[in-house]
Amino acid sequence: MAGNTENCGVCGAPLQYVTVSKEASCSVCGRKEKAHIVCPGRHYLCDSCHGLDAKKMVREMSLLTLETDPVQSAMAMFHQPVLPMLGCEHAYIAAGALMSAIRNGGRVRISNEDLEEAFQRLGRQAVGGYCGLTGVCGVVPAIGACVSILYGSKCGRDMEQRLTMEATARVASEILALTGPSCCKAYTLAGLNVAVDFLKEASGILLPVRDRAPKCLWSAKHPHGCRRERCPYFDAEKSVPFIGNPAPGGSC
Ligand SMILES: [Zn+2]
Ligand SMILES: [Zn+2]
Repeated sequence: MAGNTENCGVCGAPLQYVTVSKEASCSVCGRKEKAHIVCPGRHYLCDSCHGLDAKKMVREMSLLTLETDPVQSAMAMFHQPVLPMLGCEHAYIAAGALMSAIRNGGRVRISNEDLEEAFQRLGRQAVGGYCGLTGVCGVVPAIGACVSILYGSKCGRDMEQRLTMEATARVASEILALTGPSCCKAYTLAGLNVAVDFLKEASGILLPVRDRAPKCLWSAKHPHGCRRERCPYFDAEKSVPFIGNPAPGGSC
């Protein structure tokens, strides 16, 4: 079991991370699941219900934004108070920021249905806590879903699937370089930078990125401890020394 550094959204008790799943019923929708993040008071939020408001915010901002820079778009979503510090809501940000930037660039037609399709697909594989439990961060299938929609990849396709897998392999490799402990915000920005390079190289899709390493404003909120100088997005000038318990930060 890992540290108890995050809190239950229902009763505020410190959450426990377990390595062997336990049966739990969602406090919102009642669904029964095997859970790896549990409250001692038996409260539980299933992955669909976790971060519902944040996912709604990402969906709405992705549909409405005119931004062509996916990194800037992600940063705008990071600033929304409804977003927890960590969690697979960040995978939705990666997909929403990338798809909307491509759409707004104007050279590739992306419909609202394409955006919804990306969210639907990543929702099957971006699962809270599974970065540590299977080694797959939700940002990986998020970028993979976008690339596969662009290329029309599906099981059985040849180059379309190869390109999709190449994109996800590159994202996973970049995220690997940022591990210890994990940070959904760093992984999202890194995944978007990889996607921008990949789309330029593979398809000539140009997405303007004004700042590839924007300064993170949330390092003091990281419940597992920010990597600070080891993270390319760390802001050494504005950061405050880490003292005491960090703020509740959601679960990843
Ligand atoms: Zn609780
Ligand atoms: Zn639920």
